[in-house]
Amino acid sequence: MESQITIEKAKYSRIKEVDFTNIPFGRIFSDHMFMADYYDGAWRDFRIVPFGKFPFHPATSALHYGQSIFEGLKAYKSIHGEVQLFRPQKNIERLNKSARRMAMPEFPEDIFFRALNELMRLDHAWIPSNDEGSLYIRPLMFATDEYVGIKPSDNYRLIIFTCPVGPYYDKPVKVWMDDRFVRAFPGGVGTAKAAGNYGATLYAVKLARARGYDQLLWLDGIEHRYLQEIGTMNVFFQIDECLVTPTLEEGTILEGITRDSVITLLREEGVEVQERRVTVDEIFEAYDKGLLKDAFGTGTAATISQIAEIGYKDKKIILNQLAADRYSSMLKEKLEDIKRSKIPDRYNWMYRIETSVAASKSK
Ligand SMILES: *Cc1c(COP(=O)(O)O)cnc(C)c1O
Repeated sequence: MESQITIEKAKYSRIKEVDFTNIPFGRIFSDHMFMADYYDGAWRDFRIVPFGKFPFHPATSALHYGQSIFEGLKAYKSIHGEVQLFRPQKNIERLNKSARRMAMPEFPEDIFFRALNELMRLDHAWIPSNDEGSLYIRPLMFATDEYVGIKPSDNYRLIIFTCPVGPYYDKPVKVWMDDRFVRAFPGGVGTAKAAGNYGATLYAVKLARARGYDQLLWLDGIEHRYLQEIGTMNVFFQIDECLVTPTLEEGTILEGITRDSVITLLREEGVEVQERRVTVDEIFEAYDKGLLKDAFGTGTAATISQIAEIGYKDKKIILNQLAADRYSSMLKEKLEDIKRSKIPDRYNWMYRIETSVAASKSK
């Protein structure tokens, strides 16, 4: 009984106000959101309410001291019209991993899944039905103690809201490597999807933008010579016929679900994938020898984002986007096809939502 999700439906839907042919990323919100609060040592008050604002106490702990984590996943419409999520089990596991690292309470998996099911039943019409669109799902957890003082909060809120989205970066990205700035270091929180990780990067990104780049390609925090990742994407390089990607072993890189999926698909194709330390020098060396065939980022928002240019000091790598032997195009297509059930889902990655079932009332 206690874990019942109550549902308050929106009085009217805003969906008719949305131009689905031109959706700006992250600025359109569907009709409902899920909320839960943690107090007296447990998650409680599971509810779906109309999407909207709520008041904040000025001393809300998350705003001052940064106990705040999030996730990102997507719902797709298959070619048969079914609603399905891509590997949501991985997202709840990672949310709880981030929670542990930030001394926050874990959220029950079963309620997470029930919340997603109920939300999708209510708002599946917000999933764009065109080929490129999807519904971005944003779970968020933050500390809500009304207290000025640094300690793990006793109170938290979890929210899940959704945004219809079109293609993310439609053009290939230009990335800049800068050895003056660091995103993560061993023992830090680089492997957590913690809010502060992103705020901490913005100044460096601003400087990179002024040089004409879109994002930073982060270097390790100790020697500034090992590549880590890009903004909210993991990074892959195709050197000749082999794919290399930075190892997770240093504990400084976000463990991307797209990264894991790409590695699986490449190995299935018989492509050699090396997860290891990757140096700036070896990437330039491969480029100079004509062996750097491809470079791309992987993440839920963009899926696969080709890299057009890499800048470092006074050097530049420029990749030919049209080259036929780049793996990124094949991967993007394959992932999209799995998400839309155009090809078999051999790894059971898709989580189907039964939208025709009436919203369950209890349990
Ligand atoms: C979310 C994120 C990624 C990509 O993870 P996916 O699970 O593939 O979306 C990569 N790097 C960082 C820093 C991220 O926050």
